[in-house]
Amino acid sequence: MKNQVVAEIFNTIADLLDVKGEVFFKTRAYRMAAQTIVTLDEDIEKIANQGRLQTIPGVGAALAEKIKEIVTTGKLKYLERLKKEIPAGVLDLLSIQGLGPRKVAALYKNRGITSIAALKQAASSGQLRDLEGFGEITERNILRGIQLLEKTSGRVLLHVAYEDGMRYLTYLKKCKHITHLSIAGSLRRMKETIGDVDILASSTQPVKVMEVFVSYPEVTSVLAKGTTKSSVLLNDNLQVDLRVVEEKSYGAALQYFTGSKEHNVTLRGIAIRKGYKLNEYGLFEKKTDKYVTGKTEGDIYKKIGFSYIEPELRENRGEFEAAEKKRLPTLVGYDDIRGDFHVHSLWSDGSDSVETLAQAAQQKGYSFIGITDHSQSLRIANGLTEEDIQKKLKEIERLNKKLPDIRILCGTECDIKTDGTLDYPNKVLKQFDFVYIAVHTSFKMEREAMTKRIIRGMTNEYVDFVAHPTGRLISKRDPYDVDLQQLIDAAQEHNVRLEINAFPDRLDLDDTAAKLAKDHGVGFVLGTDSHNSNHMEFMRYGVATARRGWLEKKDILNTYSLSQIEKILGA
Ligand SMILES: [Zn+2]
Ligand SMILES: [Zn+2]
Repeated sequence: MKNQVVAEIFNTIADLLDVKGEVFFKTRAYRMAAQTIVTLDEDIEKIANQGRLQTIPGVGAALAEKIKEIVTTGKLKYLERLKKEIPAGVLDLLSIQGLGPRKVAALYKNRGITSIAALKQAASSGQLRDLEGFGEITERNILRGIQLLEKTSGRVLLHVAYEDGMRYLTYLKKCKHITHLSIAGSLRRMKETIGDVDILASSTQPVKVMEVFVSYPEVTSVLAKGTTKSSVLLNDNLQVDLRVVEEKSYGAALQYFTGSKEHNVTLRGIAIRKGYKLNEYGLFEKKTDKYVTGKTEGDIYKKIGFSYIEPELRENRGEFEAAEKKRLPTLVGYDDIRGDFHVHSLWSDGSDSVETLAQAAQQKGYSFIGITDHSQSLRIANGLTEEDIQKKLKEIERLNKKLPDIRILCGTECDIKTDGTLDYPNKVLKQFDFVYIAVHTSFKMEREAMTKRIIRGMTNEYVDFVAHPTGRLISKRDPYDVDLQQLIDAAQEHNVRLEINAFPDRLDLDDTAAKLAKDHGVGFVLGTDSHNSNHMEFMRYGVATARRGWLEKKDILNTYSLSQIEKILGA
């Protein structure tokens, strides 16, 4: 599908126009269209060939022309022209936290900065503080942003690697020479960012398997091709490694290549103490080198004295102690989720109607969906006035009658103002089936004030959940400066559930914070923060984060039956 290509070109155009200083609505049109196109189920090329481009929301005649040019030629003259005006490295600067198009334009026009390296040099030698709109604090923030970026560079968000990996697996499954096949590495552990994708297969015909592996249509270059290991680069620059092993080593290799390194070092140490030797080929008796087992991971863990440890737990964060005492959590399953609490509709900044969203939820087999539009003061996201809310409540009441197989819950994602009061009065809040509160403004408050702000929000009797509790955006924005332990204690005290936001660049709370909160008796909700119906797929990454945080079904409200949920929320 060329949807990704079209979306990327449109996003680049929007970035370039932003840096050029074009009007907001022009760049927004490109961004909105890109967002819609990338989440379309249908191939954009097919839509173009059938002359239906203008049926896509946000695509008018001009954009349709451009899409046609892209799908037929793979390029866009307009983009080439724009690129000639602004050097390539300038756009890289936009990936730094806190650097918007206006500042990037200033850096380029007034200081001739065209790369992150040049910017780092200029900021660390104090050359930017006298630039208009900059200052010492901006300099510091820029350096901090570059640091953040360096930490995750070369890595992609979990969902990108997951989708690539799953497509590759589907392709490889057709190869009849493969007996067993699995994702390994950090992707199998569902870490929030992934360096490269590891795939493991067992086969008696490794050479033939390698031939199939490198012939995958999305491969742009073959980095290495051997008889047991090959590496390729996909068209989105993600590296994928395949290892092929013998059947009797498959479990040992899967364990070995799944990691984490820390988990494996500990496991090997324990194995040695028990008289074994563990490596990627199997578990062996230390004295005689005799093969003990290796076909499955379960056999290996069992022989060493543990119950099976799920991949998401393999981070050496207490899983061995828990396994030894038979106290490993029964992790929430990917299929245990009965609904989504955090979905935006056309009422605020979403791009689908409540009805479309409800139908999509029903198709996923959900029993409920929570529609959470923004509150009134968040104008940029088209927050709802009290009058809008009455209309929305009526619409949802009508739809609940029309669609009896899915319960639509009318929620809100209500802003917490800087003083900790909420964006709606209680008489409005109490009309919702449930209330999320969230910080969307003044991210830079001092730690104490920010902590007080959120906790004060939680004390309101109508509040049920806190959305994206730390506000971080992976590789783009640090969490707000907030005392997490105090938030957790307050959540426990006021019986407010903390969200694990499943949107791929949020995953907030993250795994370690979720575990900490669970250990302090806090309950959770999962929400995708969907802005169109396709985003609801992101639930998987919320569940993954919950699993990495040791959460069980009972910890997560989304796994409860609808009647239990209605009772708990008083909905
Ligand atoms: Zn939000
Ligand atoms: Zn939201």
